[in-house]
Amino acid sequence: MTTCNYNRRDFLKAVGFAAASLTVPGLAAAQRPEKRPNFVIIYADDLGYGDLGCFGHPTIRTPNLDRMATEGAKLTQFYSAASICTPSRAALMTGRLPIRNGMCSDKRGVLFPDSGGGIQASEITIAEMLQKTGYESACVGKWHLGHLPQFLPTSNGFDYYFGIPYSNDMDRAKGAHRDACTNPKVEYFNVPLMRNKKIIERPTDQNTITKRYTEEAVQFIKKPKRKPFFLYLAHSMPHVPLFASEDFKDTSLRGIYGDVVTEVDWSVGQVLGALREEGLAENTLVIFSSDNGPWLVFKEHGGSAGLLRDGKGSTWEGGMREPTIAWWPGRIKAGSVITDMTSTLDIFPTLVEFAGTRVLRDRVYDGYSMVDLLTGAGEGKRDIMYYYRGTQLRAIRKGAWKMHVYTKTEYQGGKVEKHDPPLLFNVEGDPSEKYDVAAKHPDVIEDMKKEIEKHKATVRPVPSQLEIPLKKNS
Ligand code: MG
Repeated sequence: MTTCNYNRRDFLKAVGFAAASLTVPGLAAAQRPEKRPNFVIIYADDLGYGDLGCFGHPTIRTPNLDRMATEGAKLTQFYSAASICTPSRAALMTGRLPIRNGMCSDKRGVLFPDSGGGIQASEITIAEMLQKTGYESACVGKWHLGHLPQFLPTSNGFDYYFGIPYSNDMDRAKGAHRDACTNPKVEYFNVPLMRNKKIIERPTDQNTITKRYTEEAVQFIKKPKRKPFFLYLAHSMPHVPLFASEDFKDTSLRGIYGDVVTEVDWSVGQVLGALREEGLAENTLVIFSSDNGPWLVFKEHGGSAGLLRDGKGSTWEGGMREPTIAWWPGRIKAGSVITDMTSTLDIFPTLVEFAGTRVLRDRVYDGYSMVDLLTGAGEGKRDIMYYYRGTQLRAIRKGAWKMHVYTKTEYQGGKVEKHDPPLLFNVEGDPSEKYDVAAKHPDVIEDMKKEIEKHKATVRPVPSQLEIPLKKNS
């Protein structure tokens, strides 16, 4: 774990330096990129580990993501930091577990339109870190870290925002179908579409949302700029309700879910195509992933975690291991498969290092730079992953071992079960978590229990942002 001790003034001083003077200790001059790279993060919503052609789906066609994997690296043990939207996205943006900044709750899993909370000004987002070092940035798509003005992307380091600020199944209209998520009509979901801080459409025509996000993203890439850029393209799909544009409807053997994933795949092709056309491919890192596992309770309208157990909401592997691809022609070896453990938490320090900057070290970060791993210069640095649901630490992984103290199988509903003795799986040999081997490895259990105590000592309770109600006049 990266625990650093800078104060805020040090941070501002560090990020205020001219770009050329910014250095990362330990990164030799010869290894430094000539030009500061651009960054693109493409984030799908509720996409499962088994939903892409290149991750083994037999009928969903994803030629652009398959090509991206062929030209870049597949990360096969990459975890989100939570199994539901808001905490997962907060972790991506800050490089910190949501338990550290109040972006999780045991009462409400995510932020809702009636929430008054959001990401705190004291947090440093990837966009703020990059903006202060001279990057231009845009957020296109689902934000879900607070919809009040002070929480929106343009108040948190982004120069531009276009998107639905929370989940596309919210703001349910009166008279909507009882099963609106699986019998969707645009008018059932009164979700706003925003440009910067202004609502420009309501309800959002979700039939064209993937297409319009893509157009915005491509426009931003093609816009002439003097600075390096950061684009965060967070699709609202394939989170239910599922909407595809005319060109993609009824095209997939997997039904509407397959149509929607294929449209997201088309979008990836447009983004990578724009980078190639602009001559930016060799200077841009693109990472594709998903915020959490598939929402299995929606059956055919939810995705598949492939060989992994359970899905969204769960701390079984299917809830948090995500289909992830990293692409940077000339820097990331084409066709590589990275099996080292990695996480969305690691994206923040990776971008910090590639951008040649430093961050405020007055707080605990939970990420490890993936620079060496992605460029082939070394191995992964992550050895431990913590699996939280809300504020409850339910499982821990160390090396190949994963120990569950609490489980809840979301697909089957039911209750949270406490395990004493805990369950133990070797998730490298048994990624489906079928064979509990706790009885054979009491030493591993003891070691993992100690790791939990060490970790808990680093966590200070903070009030939950997800439990703050919206005031009437806000
Ligand atoms: Mg999600």
